[in-house]
Amino acid sequence: MQQERGSATPLRIVIVGGGTAGWMTAAGLSRLLDPRDYAVTLIESDEIGTVGVGEATLPHIKTFNDMLGLNEAEFMAATQASFKLGIEFVGWTRDGDRYIHPFGTFGEPWAGVDFQHHWARAKLAGREVAPLQDYSFAVAACRADAFAFPDTDSKSIRSTFAYAYHFDASLYAAYIRRWATARGVRRIEGLVLDVARDADTGHVRALTLKSGETIEGDLFVDCSGFRSLLVGQTMGVGWQDWSEWLPCDRAWAAPCERDGPFTPYTRATAREAGWMWRIPLQHRVGNGYVFSSRFCDEERALDTLLGHLENPPLADPRLLRFRAGRRERMWAGNCVAIGLAGGFLEPLESTSIFLVQAAVTDLANLMPVPGRPIDPRLAAEFNRLSAIQYDRVRDFLVLHYIANAREGEPLWDHLRTMALPDTLAHKIALFEESAAAPSYRYGLFSRDSWLSVLIGQGVEPKGYGRLADRLPLDVLEVRLADLRARIDGGVATMPAHGEFIAGYCAAR
Ligand code: FAD
Repeated sequence: MQQERGSATPLRIVIVGGGTAGWMTAAGLSRLLDPRDYAVTLIESDEIGTVGVGEATLPHIKTFNDMLGLNEAEFMAATQASFKLGIEFVGWTRDGDRYIHPFGTFGEPWAGVDFQHHWARAKLAGREVAPLQDYSFAVAACRADAFAFPDTDSKSIRSTFAYAYHFDASLYAAYIRRWATARGVRRIEGLVLDVARDADTGHVRALTLKSGETIEGDLFVDCSGFRSLLVGQTMGVGWQDWSEWLPCDRAWAAPCERDGPFTPYTRATAREAGWMWRIPLQHRVGNGYVFSSRFCDEERALDTLLGHLENPPLADPRLLRFRAGRRERMWAGNCVAIGLAGGFLEPLESTSIFLVQAAVTDLANLMPVPGRPIDPRLAAEFNRLSAIQYDRVRDFLVLHYIANAREGEPLWDHLRTMALPDTLAHKIALFEESAAAPSYRYGLFSRDSWLSVLIGQGVEPKGYGRLADRLPLDVLEVRLADLRARIDGGVATMPAHGEFIAGYCAAR
């Protein structure tokens, strides 16, 4: 059926919450939807404030920024951003070990066969072969603290990586808030005190603010953070708790001045009861210690954080409390949860902002038609897609913890011996058998991401895809050596990360 456009009464979308999730939703929907059909209002409360952390991203954020039409150099200057080519994991198998999860591919597919099969075959045949990490351009650039934009020529070895950003989360939310309000999003400052629902359908009809003002709407997006005001509190949607697999439930966060290198990557260092992040921005370094209160009290965790900062903290450390898991449904009635209101997965792989972005795109695709009742099949599809996103990220995060050799540390002993989600146990067994790694057309993570963490955590393939046998071993050995030489040559031409940013932002 042809959908009418420009109907007389636009569908009223009311977003509750002005954190990163709220403003990304407002900006995304106002960009993607026809303003004649959809009117977007956002309510935020200065009394409550935002989480204000969330500094590391995945390469998909560039697609979102490009979709909005942001000028990259201007956005980077406004948010004190740096480039990110991956995440370095330090001490995740045992103290002193390190590996990088790069944004990009390992090697190249030869004879139509994914690289890891060739690599595993050469290794199992006892041929000259380096660790998988050495066949990634992004890893080599990280090790050199170098950055340049990827080449557009797909034959160039410098085209085999992608990049994301580290940015100041509060500055980013403010930046896209300016963008969204300049393009017609109505902003209301106020505290939502009451929610009125329709007696027949149970749908939310209106919100009452502390000022007494009433805001009516047709579709409500719950971006109220951990409070989950609409989907959790009002609609009463249950919570799937994942703390059994992801027991970290606290974080201390504290910025400091940079002393160490201006790395084009995030560092995640395993500690006694969790892990610490180091995120380099232009004006400071973001640090935090994510830990499990079951295995470490808050004072001890704070001492651990402060004891590992490269400089004294620039502000009082902040404690954040959370639970790993997600809502059973993200869309209930006429309310849709996006951001922390819908779920939380620890920031080990910088997935939260990606999950917001994915939800905004899915919601825009499944947006109800103005003037018609909301079709429950739209909600069912949105819930199906959200569950896929969250469940896959959960498996990927759990993988980081399980294959550790940090014996004698209670958190790590627990994680090494716990029962895995069936879906993850299957992926590991398949990889060990055949070097096959998951590869999805929708959602996270790519095959190369799985490879980096599987192998980084010491899971080794005992077999490989037999199509790789079509390439003679001697030819393979030569190609492997040539690949490494091309990677080294390509990285040698790149400027230092800090130098590149200074030049790029200055020239905007
Ligand atoms: P919030 O920032 O909490 O915003 C909630 C909003 O709701 C506020 O504007 C508040 O005023 C409003 N509100 C609430 N109740 C009411 C009410 N009654 N009336 C009116 N307004 C109301 N993500 C990443 O992608 N990368 C990272 O590196 C990363 N690091 C993180 C580290 C930690 C320790 C934590 C806890 C999270 C991290 N995240 C990270 C997640 C990221 O911070 C969040 O996904 C992101 O900030 C979105 O938060 P939000 O907008 O959902 O919630």
